[in-house]
Amino acid sequence: MKRIFAIPPRLRSRAALGMTGPAAIGRFALQVCDDCSTVQYPPQEFCRQCLSSALVWREQTRQAAVLAEASVYHSLEPAFSGPTAPHTGLVRHNSGVVLVAFLKDNCCVGNTVHLSYVFAPGGSVVVQAAPPAADKEKVSAMTITPRPLAGLNCYLTDSENPLGQACKSALLDAGAANVWGPSSREADDSKVELVVETNWYADTYGGTSLGQRMEAHLELAERFTPILPDRKCTWVFALSFAALSAYPDQPRHSAQMAAAQALAISLRAKLLNQGARLVVAYPAKLDIEEHQSIEGSTLSWPSLASALVTALQNGHEDVYPDPQSRLWLERLTKDRKALEREMAMSPAP
Ligand SMILES: [Zn+2]
Repeated sequence: MKRIFAIPPRLRSRAALGMTGPAAIGRFALQVCDDCSTVQYPPQEFCRQCLSSALVWREQTRQAAVLAEASVYHSLEPAFSGPTAPHTGLVRHNSGVVLVAFLKDNCCVGNTVHLSYVFAPGGSVVVQAAPPAADKEKVSAMTITPRPLAGLNCYLTDSENPLGQACKSALLDAGAANVWGPSSREADDSKVELVVETNWYADTYGGTSLGQRMEAHLELAERFTPILPDRKCTWVFALSFAALSAYPDQPRHSAQMAAAQALAISLRAKLLNQGARLVVAYPAKLDIEEHQSIEGSTLSWPSLASALVTALQNGHEDVYPDPQSRLWLERLTKDRKALEREMAMSPAP
């Protein structure tokens, strides 16, 4: 009989959903009042000090101290009633706010800890406290993130192009058991746990229309989504920043990326419901014809593959693998229209 695992409770207030953005890229941020500078937790609509509604998310130090701890041996919540008792507690962040957090096993009262946001199955953000030295070693039974890539069976939509080859070698280095492509004879669909779409950079002037590419993705999703084992599966899209803000002198490429982004977001919603996840990378400039007029340095294929592997290991959802894409993300978050004009004014090739 197929074992159906429970997804932890996912209901969150709109204010609490603000944790998703920092969690997606591995940052730790808390709400801060723009009027009186009071740090807030839990996330809320109005400042707990002055009732101002001007609350903004700002990156914070990760440092905190454990105030209390408890192991949950029995829970009415099916997701927390597994063989391992979740270790939880209260931690006081350096700003003074107190958070409920999942504690790494060796954290106890009085310890200094580092806080991270991690995604639980289903995509909700939870706070995790770990000893500072073990900050990167974050494997936990209740979260799907980060999970080691060791022993995974992977499928690349194109294993022969430069990105496909770089991903193959990065995944095998990270311990993947098999990396298959469309022409692999030994590929076994029923055993695939990681799908990487490596073919979205294919020449936009080539013979395949955008409609055909979209249909190919939808067929792939139909083929794999039902058979990917719950909780274990991860789907990866390698796109470019044009998915989020068009590169004006490359309308075909930008449209292709925007379409792929829409497909990725739709598939992510579906996968989250079965406890799986989806990761998207948005590099600024790659070694492709369409990116030649973009300013700044070109990200190599091995660097992109390595950024994807790191994101998978750390449980991040959005990958901005180079300084330019991180800079654009900041501008996009702050003022989308200003970035649109900035990109429109970039010197033509
Ligand atoms: Zn205030």
